[in-house]
Amino acid sequence: MPLDQQWEAQPNLTMLGDAAHLMPPYAGEGVNMAMLDALELAESLLSEVYATPHEAISAYEKQMRKRASETAQMTMEQTAALHSSGSINHILEMIGIPPANTTM
Ligand SMILES: Cc1cc2nc3c(=O)[nH]c(=O)nc-3n(C[C@H](O)[C@H](O)[C@H](O)COP(=O)(O)OP(=O)(O)OC[C@H]3O[C@@H](n4cnc5c(N)ncnc54)[C@H](O)[C@@H]3O)c2cc1C
Repeated sequence: MPLDQQWEAQPNLTMLGDAAHLMPPYAGEGVNMAMLDALELAESLLSEVYATPHEAISAYEKQMRKRASETAQMTMEQTAALHSSGSINHILEMIGIPPANTTM
């Protein structure tokens, strides 16, 4: 999952959801990201701020790539933590339970 994806906006074509920013499932954000992409794309296309669909798509993609990159970074950190030797304590910490006395 590259964190710094760039491409030139097209006037009549765009991407959203996993097609635009595939990432591992360890932060549980994929569907949230896809739905927010759809909302932001619709808002951009309906906005009077942009003179053409090309401008609206370009603005949407810029915002989407930044958000997806931040979430992908967090997801990669979760992926590493959940596969580490301290994964059980990591999960306990996330849900506010004191670390277990274990070496797993
Ligand atoms: C194990 C696992 C656990 C996950 N857990 C979570 C979670 O807890 N929370 C969360 O938010 N996200 C989670 N996700 C991520 C989430 O499932 C995805 O981010 C989300 O489904 C992406 O939606 P999408 O519409 O972009 O793509 P998809 O859901 O993949 O939809 C794409 C659709 O396009 C269809 N398609 C593909 N090619 C073609 C074609 N050529 N013509 C026509 N149709 C085509 C496919 O059949 C599919 O139905 C998880 C993912 C996995 C794998």
